[in-house]
Order: sequence, then structure tokens, then C-alpha cells
Amino acid sequence: MSRSEQLFAHAQQHIPGGVNSPVRAFKSVGGTPLFFKHAAGAYVTDEDDRQYVDYVGSWGPMILGHSHPDVLDAVRAQLEHGLSYGAPTELETVMANLVCELVPSMDMVRMVSSGTEATMSAIRLARGYTGRDSIIKFEGNYHGHSDSLLVKAGSGALTLGVPNSPGVPADFARHTLTLPYNDLAAVEKTLQEVGDQVACIIIEPVAGNMNCVPPVDGFLAGLRTLCDAHGVVLIFDEVMTGFRVALGGAQAYYGVNPDLTTFGKIIGGGMPVGCFGGKRAIMEHIAPLGPVYQAGTLSGNPLAMAAGITTLKLLSQPGFHDRLSSYTSRMLSGLQERADAAGIPFTTNQAGGMFGVFFTNADKVTTFDDVMACDVDRFKRFFHAMLAGGVYLAPSAFEAGFTSIAHGDKELELTLNAAEKAFAQL
Ligand code: PMP
Repeated sequence: MSRSEQLFAHAQQHIPGGVNSPVRAFKSVGGTPLFFKHAAGAYVTDEDDRQYVDYVGSWGPMILGHSHPDVLDAVRAQLEHGLSYGAPTELETVMANLVCELVPSMDMVRMVSSGTEATMSAIRLARGYTGRDSIIKFEGNYHGHSDSLLVKAGSGALTLGVPNSPGVPADFARHTLTLPYNDLAAVEKTLQEVGDQVACIIIEPVAGNMNCVPPVDGFLAGLRTLCDAHGVVLIFDEVMTGFRVALGGAQAYYGVNPDLTTFGKIIGGGMPVGCFGGKRAIMEHIAPLGPVYQAGTLSGNPLAMAAGITTLKLLSQPGFHDRLSSYTSRMLSGLQERADAAGIPFTTNQAGGMFGVFFTNADKVTTFDDVMACDVDRFKRFFHAMLAGGVYLAPSAFEAGFTSIAHGDKELELTLNAAEKAFAQL
């Protein structure tokens, strides 16, 4: 029995399913989840001392690679001054200034401790600001696990086949209208019918929770126009895409400005953080300035701010995103060549340092239905073959992959060698 197997058996005694977040359980790929004990650069090490090239990167935040020395130093330095005060710090202002400088659509920002909190709060704000109750989201998009948002959601909710979770009151769910991703006509029709009841549209500007599906040409710009016409707040959930697909996030990459933006994990560089922000006129409705209540004891936690500020500064260096994106495209074209050579129907998607791999006969994957039509069984076998070859992919066919700046030629070769063997086994 491996140590991961032993630890997983123990974990299940007091932790539901042995994990603290469902996708970690390997339910969708089968087998025992790996328990990790160390991570550095592009690699994670499991409890059995096996090392893997990591394409999960804690689901996005480890964009600099794991255990970046400057980030660790910043946390160590802050550590000497205490863990949490529940009072304002200068670090929070530094962080707010940095975020608003890097993301021009944001005039003001409020820190929270997770992506779930960020989206939940942004939606409450949009509802408070507009005085409307309904929200529009897209099928297969995941925005965390708050009640309004667990309707036809992606990520673990999709992986485990519970897109509409028990425990979400029907009264809540009925205010959430779910439309097909990349289908502007559906949005236009819905807004024509009930636009005056819709507080906001929330979207992953590149979907990363039904595998990776970028927006089709004109989709985001079309949403912007429709939101303006109907007085609807446009929220980009950039928890995955933020500071990753481009320095200014997906909004910079596609040149469309939302009214509100949510960020998560990446702005904490691996510490628990999220934030939401945007136009001053909307943000001024948040307490204590305005009547929409939102709060958090650990919000703006000094250790998380220290890690996050250092991470944002390092990823702002010139050329960073070109390098990240170039590694990602070289890796994906290498995979494609090897799949083609092995005669395996396969395609990929990419947005900067975020990617998806699909076992499908389709040339392009642009919709939720396209993703659902992929061969999940083949993905499972690929996943395990890659693992055996020392490459850790997201343990689900419905999650995006992430690269880091620490991924270089050596990791590329290792990944492609593993893939060549994996494709041959399929
Ligand atoms: N929004 C998006 C786009 C996400 O991908 C996630 C989680 N992966 C969330 C929100 C929720 O973030 P958290 O898990 O930090 O609550």
C-alpha cells in the first residue's frame, strides 16, 4: 500500500470523502488521490517521494512556480509582525492600489478570503445597486459554492454530477437564469423578455470549470452592449483568468471592460484570498460607505497580502505573460503532434497560461455540449498514464490546466515524453 493510499484511508475517518474540496478525491478519474508533502518550482512531491511536473498549480495561483523564494521571504518577514489584527494595515492599501493600477476597469476593490466570497459579494452588490433580484450565469461556469451560483455549475459540481445541489432552496435557484455559454442570441432573447428584473450577468470570460473554453469572437463585447442597453451589471469572474491570461486578465486580453471583477487565489500567491471591485459608482454602495453589507474578520489578512503583493509585482515584469503563453502553446502543439501521430482524436484550447485538452473528433470545442461530447473514459486513461510518466494534470476532464513561469524546456521534454507513451497506450 502506498503512503497516499494509507493517508487517504485515514483521512476518510473524520473528513467527508477524505478531502476538503470534492475534485481532490479523484472521483472522476478513479484511483487514490495523491497526498502531497512538498512543492517547488514546476514540481509537486507526493508522500511516496514521487515528483511530478505540476499543471494544477493549486488551481491557478502558483503562476510563479511553487515556493518562489521572494514570496516565501515576504511571508516570513510579515510573520515576525503577527498573523492577523482584524484592523486596517498599509499592506491592504498597497494591494488595492496595485490591483486598480493593473486592471483599469477597477476604481475600488474589497478584499475577501476566497473566490466564493468574492462572487457572492459581487452579486449581492449588483442586486443592491440595481434593486433587481435575478442573475444570469452560464451553463458549466463555476463561481464558487454560494447558493445562488450552484445552479448548473461546473467544476466539482459537474465532475460529480450534481449541477443542482440539494440544500439550495428552490426560491433561491429560481432567481438564477442559466444560459448556454458562447450563445449571445440566448442572452439577447432573455434580456428582451426579463431584462428589467436582471441585476447582473456573471461570467468566466474564459471558462475554466468545464475544461477550458475561450469566448467566441464578439461574445464578451456583445454582453457588454446588452448589459448597457438593459441596465445590467456585467461581472467578469476572473478567479482563474485574472493576471494569468494577460497581465490585465481576460478583460485586457479581449478588450472588454466589465462593471465588476472578481479575483481569487492568484492575488494571494497561494494564501487564501479573493477580492471584488470595479466602478466607483457601484462600489460606493458597499458598507460602510453604502447600505449593501459585506464583511470578513480575515479579509485583507497581512500574510496573504504580503504573499499576494509580491506575486503581483513579480508577474508584472515585462515579458512574463509572453513567456508563460509561449510555454503553454509549445506544450499544447507538442501534445497535438503526438496525439495525431498516434491516431488519437484530440484537440486543445488555450488562453495565455491556461489550457484544456479534449479527446474528441471535433476540430474546435466552444460550447458546454462540445465538452460533454468528449471521451471522458479516454481522458481518465490519459490522466493515469501521464501520472505514471511523472506529470500531474487536473484530476477531471472538466477542469482547465495551468502553467507557471517555472515551467521550461526540461519540463516540456518530460511532459511530451510522458504524453507520447500515454497516447501509445490509448
Ligand atoms: N470562480 C471561479 C472562476 C473559480 O474557478 C473558482 C474556484 N476554482 C471560484 C470562483 C471559487 O473560488 P474558491 O474556491 O476560492 O472559493
